[in-house]
Amino acid sequence: MDPDFHPLSIQAGEGAWLIASDGKRYLDGNSSIWTNVHGHRQPKLDAALLDQLGRIAHCSFLGLTHEPAARLGSELVSFANNPDLHPKLSRVFFSDDGSTAMEAGLKMILQGFAQTDQPERREFISPEGAYHGDTIGAMSLGKSEAFHHHFQPVLFPTRKVMAPSCYRCPFNRAKPELDDARRYRRCNFECATLAEEEIHKAGHRLAAWVLEPKVQGAAGMIMHPEGYAQRTATAARKVGAKVLFDEVLTGCHRTGTALAAHSERVMPDVVALAKGLTGGYLPLAATLTSEEVFAPFLGGAERTFFHGHSYTANPLGCAVASANLGLLSEREAVAGRCRLFRTLESVSKRFWQHPNVGDVRQEGGILAIEMVSNRTTRTRFPSTERRGARICRTAQDFGLITRPIGDVLVLMPPFCSTDEEIEKMAESLYLGIQKEMPA
Ligand code: PMP
Repeated sequence: MDPDFHPLSIQAGEGAWLIASDGKRYLDGNSSIWTNVHGHRQPKLDAALLDQLGRIAHCSFLGLTHEPAARLGSELVSFANNPDLHPKLSRVFFSDDGSTAMEAGLKMILQGFAQTDQPERREFISPEGAYHGDTIGAMSLGKSEAFHHHFQPVLFPTRKVMAPSCYRCPFNRAKPELDDARRYRRCNFECATLAEEEIHKAGHRLAAWVLEPKVQGAAGMIMHPEGYAQRTATAARKVGAKVLFDEVLTGCHRTGTALAAHSERVMPDVVALAKGLTGGYLPLAATLTSEEVFAPFLGGAERTFFHGHSYTANPLGCAVASANLGLLSEREAVAGRCRLFRTLESVSKRFWQHPNVGDVRQEGGILAIEMVSNRTTRTRFPSTERRGARICRTAQDFGLITRPIGDVLVLMPPFCSTDEEIEKMAESLYLGIQKEMPA
Protein backbone atom coordinates (compact mmCIF):
# COMPACT_ATOMS: atom_id res chain seq x y z
CA MET A 1 0.00 0.00 0.00
CA ASP A 2 1.21 3.47 -0.90
CA PRO A 3 1.62 5.42 2.37
CA ASP A 4 1.07 8.68 0.48
CA PHE A 5 -2.33 7.62 -0.78
CA HIS A 6 -5.18 9.68 0.66
CA PRO A 7 -8.60 8.51 -0.48
CA LEU A 8 -11.22 11.01 -1.47
CA SER A 9 -13.94 11.20 1.17
CA ILE A 10 -17.44 10.93 -0.31
CA GLN A 11 -20.26 12.33 1.73
CA ALA A 12 -23.28 12.24 -0.56
CA GLY A 13 -24.61 11.09 -3.89
CA GLU A 14 -27.22 12.36 -6.30
CA GLY A 15 -28.15 10.55 -9.51
CA ALA A 16 -24.92 9.90 -11.41
CA TRP A 17 -22.92 12.18 -9.10
CA LEU A 18 -20.78 11.62 -6.04
CA ILE A 19 -20.23 14.61 -3.76
CA ALA A 20 -17.02 14.83 -1.74
CA SER A 21 -16.77 16.26 1.77
CA ASP A 22 -15.29 19.48 0.35
CA GLY A 23 -18.42 19.87 -1.82
CA LYS A 24 -16.69 18.96 -5.11
CA ARG A 25 -18.85 16.90 -7.48
CA TYR A 26 -17.66 13.87 -9.45
CA LEU A 27 -19.42 11.69 -11.98
CA ASP A 28 -19.67 8.08 -10.82
CA GLY A 29 -18.11 6.63 -13.96
CA ASN A 30 -18.02 3.01 -12.81
CA SER A 31 -21.34 2.93 -10.95
CA SER A 32 -19.58 2.59 -7.58
CA ILE A 33 -17.60 -0.47 -8.64
CA TRP A 34 -20.29 -1.82 -10.98
CA THR A 35 -23.10 -1.90 -8.41
CA ASN A 36 -25.23 1.18 -8.90
CA VAL A 37 -28.09 0.87 -11.36
CA HIS A 38 -30.51 3.81 -11.25
CA GLY A 39 -28.28 6.41 -9.61
CA HIS A 40 -27.80 7.55 -6.03
CA ARG A 41 -30.74 8.56 -3.85
CA GLN A 42 -33.25 7.19 -6.31
CA PRO A 43 -36.59 8.24 -4.76
CA LYS A 44 -38.37 4.87 -5.23
CA LEU A 45 -35.44 2.90 -3.83
CA ASP A 46 -35.10 5.29 -0.89
CA ALA A 47 -38.84 4.95 -0.22
CA ALA A 48 -38.73 1.13 -0.36
CA LEU A 49 -35.88 1.12 2.12
CA LEU A 50 -37.54 3.55 4.52
CA ASP A 51 -40.81 1.68 4.31
CA GLN A 52 -39.09 -1.57 5.27
CA LEU A 53 -37.15 0.19 8.02
CA GLY A 54 -40.51 1.11 9.55
CA ARG A 55 -41.17 -2.64 10.01
CA ILE A 56 -37.88 -4.36 10.75
CA ALA A 57 -34.26 -3.94 9.63
CA HIS A 58 -33.18 -7.52 10.11
CA CYS A 59 -34.17 -10.87 11.50
CA SER A 60 -32.64 -14.28 10.99
CA PHE A 61 -33.68 -16.34 7.96
CA LEU A 62 -32.78 -19.61 9.69
CA GLY A 63 -35.99 -21.56 10.14
CA LEU A 64 -37.93 -18.34 9.53
CA THR A 65 -39.12 -16.46 6.51
CA HIS A 66 -40.44 -13.00 5.74
CA GLU A 67 -42.45 -11.26 3.12
CA PRO A 68 -39.67 -9.17 1.48
CA ALA A 69 -37.59 -12.31 0.80
CA ALA A 70 -40.55 -14.40 -0.37
CA ARG A 71 -41.65 -11.60 -2.71
CA LEU A 72 -38.15 -11.04 -4.05
CA GLY A 73 -37.66 -14.78 -4.57
CA SER A 74 -40.67 -15.05 -6.83
CA GLU A 75 -39.79 -11.80 -8.64
CA LEU A 76 -36.29 -13.12 -9.27
CA VAL A 77 -37.67 -16.30 -10.80
CA SER A 78 -39.70 -14.21 -13.28
CA PHE A 79 -36.78 -11.87 -13.89
CA ALA A 80 -34.12 -14.50 -14.53
CA ASN A 81 -36.09 -16.71 -16.88
CA ASN A 82 -36.83 -16.40 -20.54
CA PRO A 83 -39.80 -18.49 -21.71
CA ASP A 84 -37.89 -19.74 -24.76
CA LEU A 85 -34.88 -20.97 -22.80
CA HIS A 86 -34.24 -23.98 -20.57
CA PRO A 87 -33.65 -25.05 -17.87
CA LYS A 88 -35.92 -22.79 -15.85
CA LEU A 89 -34.31 -21.32 -12.75
CA SER A 90 -36.93 -21.92 -10.10
CA ARG A 91 -35.09 -21.87 -6.74
CA VAL A 92 -33.44 -18.93 -5.00
CA PHE A 93 -30.78 -19.03 -2.28
CA PHE A 94 -29.85 -15.71 -0.68
CA SER A 95 -26.42 -14.64 0.53
CA ASP A 96 -24.48 -11.42 1.00
CA ASP A 97 -22.28 -10.60 -1.99
CA GLY A 98 -20.82 -11.92 -5.20
CA SER A 99 -18.20 -14.07 -3.51
CA THR A 100 -20.67 -15.81 -1.22
CA ALA A 101 -23.18 -16.29 -4.05
CA MET A 102 -20.50 -18.10 -6.05
CA GLU A 103 -19.27 -20.01 -3.01
CA ALA A 104 -22.83 -21.23 -2.38
CA GLY A 105 -23.24 -22.15 -6.06
CA LEU A 106 -20.14 -24.30 -6.19
CA LYS A 107 -20.95 -26.01 -2.89
CA MET A 108 -24.50 -26.79 -4.03
CA ILE A 109 -23.15 -28.40 -7.18
CA LEU A 110 -20.64 -30.52 -5.24
CA GLN A 111 -23.14 -31.62 -2.62
CA GLY A 112 -25.80 -32.26 -5.25
CA PHE A 113 -23.49 -34.61 -7.15
CA ALA A 114 -22.42 -36.31 -3.91
CA GLN A 115 -26.10 -36.89 -3.12
CA THR A 116 -26.83 -38.38 -6.54
CA ASP A 117 -24.07 -40.99 -6.34
CA GLN A 118 -21.59 -39.03 -8.43
CA PRO A 119 -19.04 -37.99 -5.79
CA GLU A 120 -16.26 -38.23 -8.40
CA ARG A 121 -17.62 -35.07 -10.05
CA ARG A 122 -15.42 -32.58 -8.24
CA GLU A 123 -13.62 -30.70 -10.98
CA PHE A 124 -14.32 -27.22 -12.28
CA ILE A 125 -13.15 -25.55 -15.48
CA SER A 126 -13.13 -21.82 -16.11
CA PRO A 127 -11.29 -19.40 -18.41
CA GLU A 128 -7.92 -17.88 -17.50
CA GLY A 129 -8.27 -14.65 -15.59
CA ALA A 130 -11.76 -15.52 -14.34
CA TYR A 131 -12.64 -13.67 -11.17
CA HIS A 132 -15.40 -14.91 -8.91
CA GLY A 133 -14.61 -13.29 -5.58
CA ASP A 134 -12.19 -13.34 -2.69
CA THR A 135 -13.31 -16.27 -0.55
CA ILE A 136 -11.23 -19.43 -0.87
CA GLY A 137 -13.71 -21.36 -3.04
CA ALA A 138 -14.43 -18.42 -5.31
CA MET A 139 -10.69 -17.73 -5.60
CA SER A 140 -10.10 -21.37 -6.52
CA LEU A 141 -12.59 -21.12 -9.38
CA GLY A 142 -10.88 -18.02 -10.69
CA LYS A 143 -7.39 -17.06 -11.63
CA SER A 144 -6.32 -13.55 -10.94
CA GLU A 145 -2.59 -13.18 -10.42
CA ALA A 146 -2.82 -9.96 -8.43
CA PHE A 147 -5.58 -11.16 -6.11
CA HIS A 148 -4.69 -14.82 -5.68
CA HIS A 149 -0.98 -15.49 -5.86
CA HIS A 150 -0.32 -15.34 -2.11
CA PHE A 151 -3.02 -17.94 -1.54
CA GLN A 152 -2.24 -20.35 -4.35
CA PRO A 153 -1.00 -23.12 -2.01
CA VAL A 154 -4.33 -23.33 -0.20
CA LEU A 155 -6.65 -23.04 -3.21
CA PHE A 156 -8.15 -26.25 -4.56
CA PRO A 157 -6.98 -27.11 -8.07
CA THR A 158 -9.23 -26.23 -11.00
CA ARG A 159 -8.66 -26.52 -14.73
CA LYS A 160 -8.22 -23.43 -16.86
CA VAL A 161 -8.73 -22.77 -20.55
CA MET A 162 -7.59 -19.76 -22.56
CA ALA A 163 -9.77 -16.72 -22.10
CA PRO A 164 -11.80 -15.82 -25.19
CA SER A 165 -10.13 -12.45 -25.63
CA CYS A 166 -10.16 -11.59 -29.35
CA TYR A 167 -7.82 -8.62 -28.92
CA ARG A 168 -5.17 -10.75 -27.20
CA CYS A 169 -5.83 -14.06 -28.95
CA PRO A 170 -2.84 -15.99 -30.37
CA PHE A 171 -5.19 -17.55 -32.97
CA ASN A 172 -6.50 -14.21 -34.26
CA ARG A 173 -4.65 -13.62 -37.53
CA ALA A 174 -6.19 -10.19 -38.14
CA LYS A 175 -3.99 -7.08 -38.09
CA PRO A 176 -5.15 -4.47 -35.56
CA GLU A 177 -7.89 -2.18 -36.82
CA LEU A 178 -9.58 0.80 -35.24
CA ASP A 179 -12.48 -1.32 -34.06
CA ASP A 180 -13.54 -3.85 -31.43
CA ALA A 181 -11.27 -6.84 -32.15
CA ARG A 182 -14.29 -9.18 -32.00
CA ARG A 183 -15.65 -7.59 -35.15
CA TYR A 184 -12.59 -8.05 -37.35
CA ARG A 185 -11.12 -11.24 -35.85
CA ARG A 186 -9.82 -13.90 -38.23
CA CYS A 187 -9.81 -17.24 -36.47
CA ASN A 188 -11.60 -20.57 -36.34
CA PHE A 189 -13.12 -19.96 -32.91
CA GLU A 190 -10.26 -21.96 -31.39
CA CYS A 191 -11.03 -20.61 -27.89
CA ALA A 192 -14.40 -22.42 -27.92
CA THR A 193 -12.89 -25.58 -29.43
CA LEU A 194 -10.13 -25.69 -26.78
CA ALA A 195 -12.70 -25.24 -24.00
CA GLU A 196 -14.84 -28.01 -25.50
CA GLU A 197 -11.82 -30.31 -25.62
CA GLU A 198 -10.90 -29.60 -21.99
CA ILE A 199 -14.51 -30.18 -20.90
CA HIS A 200 -14.57 -33.44 -22.84
CA LYS A 201 -11.29 -34.52 -21.22
CA ALA A 202 -12.63 -33.87 -17.72
CA GLY A 203 -15.73 -35.92 -18.67
CA HIS A 204 -17.36 -37.74 -15.75
CA ARG A 205 -15.09 -35.95 -13.26
CA LEU A 206 -16.39 -32.53 -14.25
CA ALA A 207 -18.74 -30.90 -11.75
CA ALA A 208 -19.24 -27.62 -13.60
CA TRP A 209 -18.15 -25.30 -16.36
CA VAL A 210 -17.90 -21.88 -14.71
CA LEU A 211 -18.20 -18.71 -16.75
CA GLU A 212 -18.82 -14.99 -16.52
CA PRO A 213 -20.92 -14.98 -19.69
CA LYS A 214 -20.16 -12.34 -22.31
CA VAL A 215 -17.89 -10.18 -20.15
CA GLN A 216 -15.04 -11.28 -17.87
CA GLY A 217 -14.97 -8.23 -15.65
CA ALA A 218 -11.93 -8.18 -13.40
CA ALA A 219 -9.86 -10.01 -16.05
CA GLY A 220 -9.88 -6.69 -17.95
CA MET A 221 -13.41 -6.42 -19.33
CA ILE A 222 -12.67 -9.24 -21.75
CA MET A 223 -15.69 -9.34 -24.04
CA HIS A 224 -16.39 -12.71 -25.57
CA PRO A 225 -17.18 -13.47 -29.18
CA GLU A 226 -20.84 -14.28 -29.74
CA GLY A 227 -21.68 -17.93 -29.24
CA TYR A 228 -18.87 -18.75 -26.78
CA ALA A 229 -21.15 -19.18 -23.75
CA GLN A 230 -23.59 -21.32 -25.69
CA ARG A 231 -21.01 -23.63 -27.26
CA THR A 232 -19.15 -24.24 -24.03
CA ALA A 233 -22.32 -24.73 -21.98
CA THR A 234 -23.53 -27.28 -24.52
CA ALA A 235 -20.22 -29.15 -24.23
CA ALA A 236 -20.50 -29.23 -20.42
CA ARG A 237 -24.02 -30.64 -20.57
CA LYS A 238 -22.89 -33.31 -23.02
CA VAL A 239 -20.57 -34.75 -20.37
CA GLY A 240 -23.26 -34.50 -17.68
CA ALA A 241 -21.74 -31.50 -15.86
CA LYS A 242 -23.54 -28.40 -14.62
CA VAL A 243 -23.20 -24.90 -16.01
CA LEU A 244 -22.46 -22.26 -13.37
CA PHE A 245 -22.71 -18.68 -14.60
CA ASP A 246 -21.32 -15.80 -12.61
CA GLU A 247 -23.61 -12.89 -13.48
CA VAL A 248 -22.53 -10.85 -10.47
CA LEU A 249 -21.46 -8.10 -12.89
CA THR A 250 -23.36 -8.92 -16.08
CA GLY A 251 -26.78 -9.56 -14.50
CA CYS A 252 -29.52 -6.97 -13.95
CA HIS A 253 -29.39 -5.61 -17.52
CA ARG A 254 -25.78 -4.37 -17.36
CA THR A 255 -25.11 -5.90 -20.77
CA GLY A 256 -28.65 -5.25 -22.05
CA THR A 257 -30.72 -8.30 -21.14
CA ALA A 258 -31.82 -9.29 -17.60
CA LEU A 259 -29.12 -11.97 -17.66
CA ALA A 260 -26.30 -11.88 -20.19
CA ALA A 261 -27.16 -15.56 -20.72
CA HIS A 262 -30.43 -14.57 -22.41
CA SER A 263 -28.71 -12.84 -25.30
CA GLU A 264 -26.42 -15.86 -25.70
CA ARG A 265 -29.58 -18.01 -25.89
CA VAL A 266 -28.39 -20.36 -23.17
CA MET A 267 -29.42 -20.87 -19.56
CA PRO A 268 -27.12 -21.96 -16.75
CA ASP A 269 -28.10 -24.58 -14.15
CA VAL A 270 -26.88 -22.22 -11.44
CA VAL A 271 -26.41 -18.46 -11.61
CA ALA A 272 -25.00 -15.96 -9.12
CA LEU A 273 -26.39 -12.42 -8.98
CA ALA A 274 -25.11 -9.68 -6.71
CA LYS A 275 -23.74 -6.25 -7.60
CA GLY A 276 -26.77 -4.67 -9.28
CA LEU A 277 -29.35 -6.71 -7.39
CA THR A 278 -30.17 -3.96 -4.89
CA GLY A 279 -29.51 -1.19 -7.41
CA GLY A 280 -26.19 -0.63 -5.65
CA TYR A 281 -27.79 0.13 -2.28
CA LEU A 282 -27.00 -2.80 0.01
CA PRO A 283 -25.01 -6.02 0.01
CA LEU A 284 -27.38 -8.81 -1.01
CA ALA A 285 -26.83 -11.69 -3.40
CA ALA A 286 -28.78 -14.59 -4.81
CA THR A 287 -27.85 -17.95 -6.27
CA LEU A 288 -30.60 -19.27 -8.52
CA THR A 289 -30.83 -22.89 -9.57
CA SER A 290 -32.92 -25.21 -11.66
CA GLU A 291 -35.25 -27.77 -10.10
CA GLU A 292 -32.77 -30.49 -11.08
CA VAL A 293 -30.02 -28.90 -8.98
CA PHE A 294 -32.44 -28.49 -6.07
CA ALA A 295 -33.88 -32.03 -6.13
CA PRO A 296 -30.94 -33.89 -4.49
CA PHE A 297 -31.46 -31.81 -1.34
CA LEU A 298 -34.95 -33.21 -0.76
CA GLY A 299 -35.72 -36.35 1.18
CA GLY A 300 -34.37 -35.92 4.71
CA ALA A 301 -32.61 -33.59 7.13
CA GLU A 302 -29.22 -35.12 6.31
CA ARG A 303 -29.62 -33.93 2.71
CA THR A 304 -29.90 -30.27 3.77
CA PHE A 305 -27.60 -27.68 2.27
CA PHE A 306 -25.93 -26.57 5.51
CA HIS A 307 -24.83 -23.12 4.43
CA GLY A 308 -26.10 -19.77 5.62
CA HIS A 309 -25.01 -16.35 6.75
CA SER A 310 -26.23 -14.22 9.64
CA TYR A 311 -27.58 -11.59 7.26
CA THR A 312 -29.01 -14.01 4.70
CA ALA A 313 -32.05 -12.44 3.00
CA ASN A 314 -31.70 -9.20 4.95
CA PRO A 315 -35.17 -7.59 4.74
CA LEU A 316 -33.86 -4.11 3.88
CA GLY A 317 -31.81 -5.56 1.04
CA CYS A 318 -34.74 -7.63 -0.21
CA ALA A 319 -37.12 -4.66 -0.12
CA VAL A 320 -34.79 -2.42 -2.08
CA ALA A 321 -33.97 -5.25 -4.53
CA SER A 322 -37.70 -5.68 -5.27
CA ALA A 323 -38.01 -1.97 -5.94
CA ASN A 324 -34.91 -2.16 -8.16
CA LEU A 325 -36.36 -5.01 -10.26
CA GLY A 326 -39.61 -3.04 -10.53
CA LEU A 327 -37.77 0.02 -11.83
CA LEU A 328 -35.72 -2.05 -14.27
CA SER A 329 -38.89 -3.30 -15.93
CA GLU A 330 -40.59 0.10 -16.33
CA ARG A 331 -41.10 1.07 -19.93
CA GLU A 332 -39.18 4.36 -19.60
CA ALA A 333 -36.29 2.46 -18.01
CA VAL A 334 -36.09 0.11 -20.98
CA ALA A 335 -36.00 3.08 -23.37
CA GLY A 336 -33.51 4.86 -21.10
CA ARG A 337 -31.10 1.93 -21.20
CA CYS A 338 -31.25 1.78 -25.00
CA ARG A 339 -30.45 5.48 -25.15
CA LEU A 340 -27.59 5.10 -22.69
CA PHE A 341 -26.06 2.20 -24.63
CA ARG A 342 -26.24 4.22 -27.87
CA THR A 343 -24.74 7.32 -26.28
CA LEU A 344 -21.94 5.24 -24.79
CA GLU A 345 -21.25 3.82 -28.24
CA SER A 346 -21.17 7.25 -29.78
CA VAL A 347 -18.75 8.68 -27.17
CA SER A 348 -16.55 5.59 -27.47
CA LYS A 349 -15.46 6.59 -30.99
CA ARG A 350 -13.40 9.58 -29.89
CA PHE A 351 -10.97 7.35 -27.99
CA TRP A 352 -9.58 6.06 -31.30
CA GLN A 353 -8.08 9.53 -31.85
CA HIS A 354 -5.42 8.69 -29.30
CA PRO A 355 -2.54 6.59 -30.71
CA ASN A 356 -2.15 4.55 -27.52
CA VAL A 357 -5.67 3.19 -27.64
CA GLY A 358 -5.48 -0.40 -28.86
CA ASP A 359 -9.00 -1.75 -28.42
CA VAL A 360 -12.36 -0.18 -27.66
CA ARG A 361 -15.08 -2.66 -26.79
CA GLN A 362 -18.61 -2.36 -25.49
CA GLU A 363 -21.35 -4.62 -24.21
CA GLY A 364 -24.50 -2.68 -23.34
CA GLY A 365 -23.63 -0.35 -20.49
CA ILE A 366 -19.99 -1.42 -20.21
CA LEU A 367 -17.31 0.39 -22.20
CA ALA A 368 -13.66 -0.70 -22.02
CA ILE A 369 -10.69 1.11 -23.55
CA GLU A 370 -7.41 -0.80 -23.64
CA MET A 371 -4.26 1.31 -23.62
CA VAL A 372 -1.12 -0.03 -25.33
CA SER A 373 2.38 1.29 -25.90
CA ASN A 374 2.22 0.26 -29.56
CA ARG A 375 -1.04 -0.04 -31.44
CA THR A 376 0.42 -1.98 -34.37
CA THR A 377 2.02 -4.68 -32.22
CA ARG A 378 -0.55 -4.54 -29.38
CA THR A 379 2.38 -4.24 -26.93
CA ARG A 380 1.45 -3.54 -23.35
CA PHE A 381 3.03 -0.86 -21.17
CA PRO A 382 5.19 -2.29 -18.37
CA SER A 383 2.77 -2.87 -15.49
CA THR A 384 5.09 -0.97 -13.13
CA GLU A 385 4.24 2.22 -15.02
CA ARG A 386 0.62 1.92 -13.80
CA ARG A 387 -0.66 3.88 -16.80
CA GLY A 388 -4.30 2.98 -16.24
CA ALA A 389 -4.23 4.06 -12.60
CA ARG A 390 -2.47 7.32 -13.47
CA ILE A 391 -4.97 8.16 -16.19
CA CYS A 392 -7.90 7.53 -13.85
CA ARG A 393 -6.29 9.58 -11.07
CA THR A 394 -5.88 12.49 -13.48
CA ALA A 395 -9.42 12.05 -14.81
CA GLN A 396 -10.56 12.54 -11.22
CA ASP A 397 -9.16 16.08 -11.40
CA PHE A 398 -11.48 16.56 -14.39
CA GLY A 399 -14.48 15.39 -12.38
CA LEU A 400 -14.67 11.66 -13.07
CA ILE A 401 -14.36 8.71 -10.72
CA THR A 402 -13.58 5.35 -12.24
CA ARG A 403 -11.07 2.54 -11.68
CA PRO A 404 -9.03 0.80 -14.35
CA ILE A 405 -8.13 -2.87 -14.56
CA GLY A 406 -4.44 -2.69 -15.36
CA ASP A 407 -4.34 -0.53 -18.49
CA VAL A 408 -7.98 -1.17 -19.39
CA LEU A 409 -10.07 1.93 -18.67
CA VAL A 410 -13.71 1.41 -17.81
CA LEU A 411 -16.82 3.53 -18.19
CA MET A 412 -19.97 2.00 -16.75
CA PRO A 413 -22.39 4.83 -16.03
CA PRO A 414 -25.44 4.42 -13.79
CA PHE A 415 -28.51 3.95 -16.00
CA CYS A 416 -29.93 7.33 -14.91
CA SER A 417 -27.00 9.22 -16.53
CA THR A 418 -28.08 11.82 -19.07
CA ASP A 419 -26.41 12.13 -22.48
CA GLU A 420 -24.57 15.22 -21.23
CA GLU A 421 -23.30 13.33 -18.20
CA ILE A 422 -22.04 10.45 -20.33
CA GLU A 423 -20.35 12.90 -22.68
CA LYS A 424 -18.72 14.59 -19.71
CA MET A 425 -17.49 11.22 -18.37
CA ALA A 426 -15.88 10.44 -21.74
CA GLU A 427 -14.45 13.95 -21.99
CA SER A 428 -12.87 13.73 -18.51
CA LEU A 429 -11.40 10.32 -19.25
CA TYR A 430 -10.02 11.52 -22.56
CA LEU A 431 -8.48 14.56 -20.89
CA GLY A 432 -6.90 12.17 -18.37
CA ILE A 433 -5.39 10.15 -21.23
CA GLN A 434 -4.13 13.27 -23.00
CA LYS A 435 -2.56 14.72 -19.90
CA GLU A 436 -0.84 11.46 -18.92
CA MET A 437 0.14 10.55 -22.49
CA PRO A 438 0.56 13.66 -24.63
CA ALA A 439 0.34 12.29 -28.20
N1 PMP B 1 -17.92 -12.23 -9.64
C1 PMP B 1 -17.66 -11.20 -10.47
C2 PMP B 1 -17.85 -11.40 -11.94
C3 PMP B 1 -17.23 -9.99 -9.97
O1 PMP B 1 -16.96 -8.98 -10.81
C4 PMP B 1 -17.07 -9.85 -8.56
C5 PMP B 1 -16.61 -8.54 -7.94
N2 PMP B 1 -15.92 -7.68 -8.72
C6 PMP B 1 -17.36 -10.93 -7.75
C7 PMP B 1 -17.79 -12.10 -8.31
C8 PMP B 1 -17.23 -10.81 -6.25
O2 PMP B 1 -18.26 -10.02 -5.79
P1 PMP B 1 -18.19 -9.30 -4.36
O3 PMP B 1 -17.13 -8.27 -4.45
O4 PMP B 1 -19.56 -8.72 -4.19
O5 PMP B 1 -17.89 -10.36 -3.36
